[in-house]
Amino acid sequence: MKADVRSALAEATRRLGDRIDAEVLLAYALNKPRSWLFAHADDELVPEHLSAYAVLIEQREAGEPVAYITGRRGFWSLDLEVTPETLIPRPETELLVEQALEHLPPDKSCRVLDLGTGSGAIALAIACERPRAQVIATDVSADTLAVAQRNARRHHLANIGFLQGDWFMPLDSCPFDVIVSNPPYIESGDPHLQQGDLRFEPIRALASGSDGLDAIRRIVRDAALHLVPGGWLLFEHGWNQGEAARELLHHAGFVELSTMCDLEQRDRVSAGRWPPCAD
Ligand code: GLN
Repeated sequence: MKADVRSALAEATRRLGDRIDAEVLLAYALNKPRSWLFAHADDELVPEHLSAYAVLIEQREAGEPVAYITGRRGFWSLDLEVTPETLIPRPETELLVEQALEHLPPDKSCRVLDLGTGSGAIALAIACERPRAQVIATDVSADTLAVAQRNARRHHLANIGFLQGDWFMPLDSCPFDVIVSNPPYIESGDPHLQQGDLRFEPIRALASGSDGLDAIRRIVRDAALHLVPGGWLLFEHGWNQGEAARELLHHAGFVELSTMCDLEQRDRVSAGRWPPCAD
C-alpha cells in the first residue's frame, strides 16, 4: 500500500475519531516533531513507517492512552516521561502549580513537599519555576519514583530530593513552607474507573475509598505536623469535593480556606494555611 502523510493522517483520524491522537502517533512513528507533518503533507511514507504507524493505531484503538504509547506527556513547560506506573499528568493540575507558586516568593529559599509525585510533574514544575526552593517529592512506589527521578535528571533540576514511602512516612521532622499533592480522589466504586484511559492508569493513583476522600483525609490530618507556622497546604480534588475538602481543613485547624476552579469552572484545588504564630 502507498500513502502520503496527508492520507495516512486522514485514515487514522477516521479510525481513532481524533485528529490530534492521529498526528501525535504519526509524529512518534516517524520520530519527528508534530509540526513536521504539516510541512510534509505530500511526502510518501515508506512501508516500515506505515506498518509502525498501523501498530500504534491498533494500540490506541484497543484503548491504550496516547501518553503510554509514546511514553511522553507535556506538563507546564516540561516534556515528561510517563509509564503505566505513573498517572498521566492532566492540564487541570497546572492550577495546583500556579496556586502553590503564589505562596513561594522567587527571591526566598523555602522548602516544598509534593506527596505522591507520580511522574514528578508538580514537583518538577515548582523546582523549575523556583530555583531557590528545595523540593522533596515522595511516592509509595519505587518504580514510579524512578520515573520522576529520570525526569528531574533530564531537566537538570538539582533542587529536588526523592523519598520512597506512604505519604508522610519517609519524612523527618524538618518542616515545609508549602505542601502540595494531587492524591487519588475518585470513589472506589465509580464506573469511570472501568472506562477510557483511566482503565490503564495505576488504580492507587486514582481511587481512594468509598467517598474518594481517604487519601485527602490522611494528608489533611498529618500535614500540620510537617508545616511551618503560617505554611500552606494545597491539594487537588474532584469537582464535587470542594466543600468536603474545606470542612476537613477547618476541622484540622487550618485557616484562610479557599477552593479554586479549573478552566471548566469546576472546583479543583483547595488550600488552607496553618495558623501563623500568635506573637
Ligand atoms: N483528575 C483525574 C481524573 O478524574 C483523577 C486524578 C486523581 O485522582 N488525582 O481523571
